[in-house]
Amino acid sequence: MIVSKKKPIEDLSQLLKRYNSFFLIGCSECASLCSTGNEEAILNLKGWLEKEGKKVTGWFIAKTGCQILGTKREVSKYKDLIDESECILTLSCGSGTQTIVELFEDKPVIPTNDTLFIGNMRRFKEFEEKCRACGECFLAITGVCVVTLCPKSMLNGPCGGYKNGKCEVNPQRKCVWITAFSILESRGVVDSFYESLLGPKDWSKASSPRNYKAMEKGS
Ligand code: SF4
Ligand code: SF4
Repeated sequence: MIVSKKKPIEDLSQLLKRYNSFFLIGCSECASLCSTGNEEAILNLKGWLEKEGKKVTGWFIAKTGCQILGTKREVSKYKDLIDESECILTLSCGSGTQTIVELFEDKPVIPTNDTLFIGNMRRFKEFEEKCRACGECFLAITGVCVVTLCPKSMLNGPCGGYKNGKCEVNPQRKCVWITAFSILESRGVVDSFYESLLGPKDWSKASSPRNYKAMEKGS
């Protein structure tokens, strides 16, 4: 999932100070799981805006904010309320916000969230970065993502700096290669790892902006 957090209220206040009326758009996918795009987040923002003397012309929660055609269809029902507003506030990740920018080119669109990373939810509302979308997944070989969880993205084993199993960059954390080797050991495949040592990584597969068209069914 894409992890997002609410912008600090002072920053948001600064961004929207020149506008007086707003339409709010949330997202029922990742942003709802992060509590940054669900109904509660929308109603809290609405309440705060109204307390600040601003007008909220309406709001809705997109089913999947990054799905451009679906969101276009959903949002068309709110055209009059959006026209009535000076500005749209998005409660989604950056992709969801850019859907709205694309659909309303002549209207100011302000994201109320900062988008952080691709992550997993460990406990309720606690997220960990797990994948940097590097374009060439090594998990079959390493078990855990050394590209993401090693601050140096070491591909061939630990760097020389790890000490007592801890990462030299962040001694609070275990060196991810210790975890990787314990997974390889428990699978009994350490030898085959040495045979298929990784790297150098082809970072051109991770260079932005990227496009991708999914294969036809069955291919
Ligand atoms: S190897 Fe690349 S694609 Fe696979 S989890 Fe790590 S960053 Fe993501
Ligand atoms: S100690 Fe381990 S996790 Fe930390 S930078 Fe070196 S290889 Fe990466």
